[in-house]
This record gives sequence, C-alpha cells and structure tokens, in this order.
Amino acid sequence: MLSTAEALTTLLSAATPITGTESIPTLDALNRVLSADVVSPLDVPPMNTSSMDGYAIRTEDLTTDGNRRLPVSQRIPAGHAPEPLERGTAARIFTGATVPPGADAIVMQEQTEAAGNEVTILHSPASGEWITGQGADIRSGSIILPAGTRLTPQALGLAASVGCAELQVRRRAKVAVFFTGDELTMPGEPLKPGAIYNSNRFTLRGLLEKLGCDVTDYGIVPDKLDATRTTLREAAQAHDLILTCGGVSVGEEDHVKPAVEAEGRLSMWQIAMKPGKPLAFGAVRRAAQQADAAASDETFFIGLPGNPVSSFVTFLLFVRPFVLRLAGMQTVAPRALSLRADFTQNKADRRNEFLRARVNAAGGLDLFPNQSSAVLTSTVWGDGLIDNPPNHAISVGETVRFIPFSELLN
Ligand code: AMP
Ligand code: MG
Repeated sequence: MLSTAEALTTLLSAATPITGTESIPTLDALNRVLSADVVSPLDVPPMNTSSMDGYAIRTEDLTTDGNRRLPVSQRIPAGHAPEPLERGTAARIFTGATVPPGADAIVMQEQTEAAGNEVTILHSPASGEWITGQGADIRSGSIILPAGTRLTPQALGLAASVGCAELQVRRRAKVAVFFTGDELTMPGEPLKPGAIYNSNRFTLRGLLEKLGCDVTDYGIVPDKLDATRTTLREAAQAHDLILTCGGVSVGEEDHVKPAVEAEGRLSMWQIAMKPGKPLAFGAVRRAAQQADAAASDETFFIGLPGNPVSSFVTFLLFVRPFVLRLAGMQTVAPRALSLRADFTQNKADRRNEFLRARVNAAGGLDLFPNQSSAVLTSTVWGDGLIDNPPNHAISVGETVRFIPFSELLN
C-alpha cells in the first residue's frame, strides 16, 4: 500500500502545467491562473494623497511662534493638481486629493475651526500624519502578482489598480469525466430495483467547475469494453485529464481498467487511507495526427472509487492538487488548522483516516457520527476533514490536524 504522501508526490511529479496561454480582459479573468508575473508600471498611490478631509499644513508653521491660525491659500478636491503650499498657510484638502508640495501633514477637519478665510488648528500633528505616501501600496517595477497566482476578486482589483486592462493567463485545464456502473440512474428517471442515483456526477462536476476547469461530461458510459474504449479515445483528443468514477476496487468486474490498459497505461494503487483506498492513475494515448506538436501525446487518466464519500475525499486530496498543478499553480497544498477534538475516536486503523468533522461554537471539533464511505450526509454536515494518522486513536481535548473545506473546495 502507498501512503497518502507517496501517492500525492507521484501524482504531482507527473503533473506538468499546460502550455497554452492567452491574454484576456482583466474584467473576465476571475479564477484564471496567471502565466506571467504582473509588474507594476507605476507607484500606487501615484502621488502623496490625503487620507482625511481637513487641512494640509507645514508642521513647522505651527511650532515657530505658537500661532495656530493660518490663512487658507487654496482648496484641493480629489482629482485636481495642487499648487505648492505657501509658507504660513493651510490648504483645504479632501480625502484622496494630492498633498500640495511643501505640506507635510494633514489635520482632520474635526480638529480645526474654520472662520472666514482662516482656520485654527487645534491639534499638533506629527510630520506625515494622514498622508498616504506615493508608492505606499505598490512601488513601480515591483511584482504585484507572480505567475501561478489564481486570480481572486482582490487580485483583479490589485491588477486594475496599476492600470492592467489585460492579463496573461494559462488556458483552462480541460477535463473529461464519465461514470461507470450499471446501477447508476440519473435523477428524473425512475429508480429500478437495485439501482441508485448517480450522485457522484453532481459532486465531481461541481468540484471540477469550482476549480475553474473546462469540463466535458460524458455522463454514464455503459459498462462495456468497446463503449469504454471509444469514450476514452474520444476524450483523449481534446482534454488534459480524463477522470472516471467507479470500478477501481480490487476484483471488480469492470471495463475501465482493461480499457485504459488497452488505450494507454495504468497503475492501480492501493492507498493506505480511509475513506478511499483504490485509485487508478495512468494515461490514454492520443491519435498521432491529432496531437499538436507542443502538446503531450497522451492524456492523463485518474480513476476514482465509486463510494460517494471516497470519491469526494480522493478528489479533494489528489485530483484537486493535480488539476491545480496542470492549471499552472505552484502552491496547491491546502492550509490545515490545529484544532481541539471535542470527541473520542477509538477506531485506530493502519490507514490514514480523513474524518468528516465540523467546528463547534467553542472552537473545537465535533465528529459526524457515521463515518461510512457511503454516507454522503457527512460531507454536507461537516466543514472539513480531520487528517488522522495511521494507528492513532483520538482522545477528547487532543489537538488534531483539520483541513477546512474552504481550503479544499477552491
Ligand atoms: P465501485 O467503486 O464501482 O465498486 O462502487 C462502490 C460503491 O459506490 C457502490 O455501492 C456503487 O454503487 C457506488 N457508486 C459507484 N458510482 C457511483 C456514482 N456515480 N454515484 C453514486 N454512487 C456510486
Ligand atoms: Mg461499480
């Protein structure tokens, strides 16, 4: 059996980033992955700005003779270029406006008294007070977003703040997905005896879409060798990864394994984890005439176990980082938290358990009572996975490693 760490290392060492890039409008770039660093062509803010409504002054003008009354020599709204500040005067200034040359502090208007064309300063500001210096946020020439960054809303805002109208991104990872199992039925169709609904189609498609993949969903492929081989061949042409679900358990009467072996290569892994365990990793050949010169001549293949919780957890732990690496991201490990277990878990096993748990109001973790790999309810009730090492029982009060779904679902 492989450890979870060994399986992940092997997967990630195979996952070379896709090569195609494109330039797209910043407004459309949410969730895309940068293929080049974004370098700022300017300082942000581009000038010294006031961060208050008030008066721009020279602090030395207040200290010379104790005089705190200054004539107001100019008015500076945001978006207007000021004149240099005359000695012994104040400038009326507003938030976001350019600080006039010569002024070294802003006094907020609540700390002043205006009368006619004069203002009395009721406060002794330190030099620099309420001034946001030119370049305080960003220096011209600095890398504000490195290649490999996935663009969040705030990253788009940062790129826009330096005037980037377009961004260089990698093309989306193209993932084909299909499902095997003669028992599978789509919601909306009557459930015959012995049948179950194809819940994994909804979960896995949702997971892929959340990761920003371009998904082709082939639905349920009949459990026949020919049909499976045909789907694999077709999917291999235009995708980076083929993901399947079901039929990777040992001794399973299933056609995914022989079909992938006939169309490419396959390793069947037994991973020392619970839920999960079986996982198939390999590749499907691409027809030579259709493979473009720069691209690989094969498409990756990952086969997930069919049990709903197993496929969910193996996706989060293995497919997610693999797909993010394909998409061009460097940092793909979810950040885990150290939290207190407010429960006991006796069932120590030689496998690495991933327990569905949620954070309670006291900041500790509660465990979903039924940890069976068929009980999908646990994945909705929980808000993350406890990563419990092999052979380890958990006692109340112990600190455990918790990986929140918020880290795993994006
Ligand atoms: P398998 O990995 O094919 O041996 O399937 C293990 C269990 O997961 C069986 O109980 C299957 O019925 C169930 N299963 C397989 N595929 C799906 C699916 N797409 N949706 C829901 N359950 C599934
Ligand atoms: Mg099956």
